[in-house]
Amino acid sequence: MSPANEPSFRESVDLMFNRAVAIMDLPPGLEEKIRVCNATYTVRFGVRLRGQIHTFTGYRSVHSEHMEPVKGGIRFATAVNQDEVEALAALMTYKCALVETPFGGSKGGLCIDPREWDEHELELITRRFAYELVKRDLIHPAQNVPAPDMGTGEREMAWIADQFARMNTTDINSRACVTGKPLNAGGIAGRVEATGRGVQYALREFFRHPEDVKKANLSGSLDGKRVIVQGLGNVGYHAAKFLQQEDGAIVTGIIERDGALFNPDGLDVEAVHAWLAKHGGVAGFPDATHTAEGAAVLEEDCDILIPAALEAVITLDNAARIKAPLIIEAANGPVTAGADEVLRKKGTIIIPDMYANAGGVTVSYFEWVKNLSHIRFGRMQRRQEEARHQLVVDELERLDRYLGDAWTLRPEFKDKYLRGADELELVRSGLDDTMRTAYQSMREVWHDRDDVDDLRVAAYLVAIDRVAASYRAKGL
Ligand code: NAD
Repeated sequence: MSPANEPSFRESVDLMFNRAVAIMDLPPGLEEKIRVCNATYTVRFGVRLRGQIHTFTGYRSVHSEHMEPVKGGIRFATAVNQDEVEALAALMTYKCALVETPFGGSKGGLCIDPREWDEHELELITRRFAYELVKRDLIHPAQNVPAPDMGTGEREMAWIADQFARMNTTDINSRACVTGKPLNAGGIAGRVEATGRGVQYALREFFRHPEDVKKANLSGSLDGKRVIVQGLGNVGYHAAKFLQQEDGAIVTGIIERDGALFNPDGLDVEAVHAWLAKHGGVAGFPDATHTAEGAAVLEEDCDILIPAALEAVITLDNAARIKAPLIIEAANGPVTAGADEVLRKKGTIIIPDMYANAGGVTVSYFEWVKNLSHIRFGRMQRRQEEARHQLVVDELERLDRYLGDAWTLRPEFKDKYLRGADELELVRSGLDDTMRTAYQSMREVWHDRDDVDDLRVAAYLVAIDRVAASYRAKGL
């Protein structure tokens, strides 16, 4: 439980925003216009299930419409409330600006524990919630485009897309009303893994800058770094898996709802994930110690801490005991404003949520563009690219005949070089580019300005500056 003086999630976001605008030179009134949430719609609807009517409460919050459509996930969780949805919508505004996706910020939530309902019941509930939002243009390809978040995934997005299509039978762009859909319902390759993949790309970019790595009292590359992850859901699982399998990181701790697993020699992320899916928890997993008080493992010694579950897990209560020198906020708002201050004073480097988990909205942007263009990425160019590469290889092999054996193309090289990029490769390339560029824009501010000493304020400065520019251009 957090101390009583801990600000709420929304207050935390506002405090962080205020810290940034205090060192900006915004025209009077504009600061307030950017900070406030434009509107929040609350809906209570009934669904007849198990022989009686159950009433559910849902929200869709629109933080800023400086660009439209507005974008942001829909969360299914019992703790969903207006304050939380508004905080998350504000973060979406800044996140979209930071990674240059052309959207305003929005977020939605439904107070529900999805594990209490079977698939058919969940479909009825999701469709009814979508109906309420579509009716008010709070789901619309040109105005408001949701995506998955905690407790929702491809399945729910497919129901929402279908519900919209049923209510807008002649809208040729209806599939663009929501992102994070399965491939066969208009989704894009690489969306499910996108947020976790973005966390990996963010860390890779951080480790490309030895000066930044040194600020975290670390050195070298990701190889061999000890990682603790909280939440092995969509974001945490993919981030931990990629870091372990592709970058040589050692995942020493995994924290889930029913406690945490710890093994200093490393846990097999794939095996823990399979165990979690089968048993509904991590307890009982072999080759690791299990601690029922999972949050205590956040305080274990490690190089990189990845909170990837929910907000406010690092608070005034435990911040001083956090040993990780580097925290990457894969979840939204895992560090409260109070804890942020404690950690900054300790010298902990925090890669902020608005950047760290932007991989999801980045690939959602690609999906939305794909839906509006009605064509798969790479469909026109792929074979043409292969044909041009074949030309080069043929020519080199022709020369080869004159130059003899000393000059042959390795078959592995030929295979790789000849293959044209498919949609997944293009999506990963676009995501990697986005994560690198956004990090560099934050980093520039972090290093160049004497009054900025952390990446979070740097991220807010870049983002607010872009939102302000957009308002100014509109004449507001
Ligand atoms: P998810 O529902 O797939 O996974 C959440 C995981 O956290 C689950 O495995 C759950 O069991 C675990 N968990 C819940 N409460 C916990 C607790 N108290 N301690 C430890 N583990 C707990 O959700 P997700 O989509 O992976 O989202 C996780 C976070 O990432 C959220 O903050 C979300 O807003 C943020 N996020 C998600 C996306 C996305 O594309 N899904 C994009 C950006 C940000």
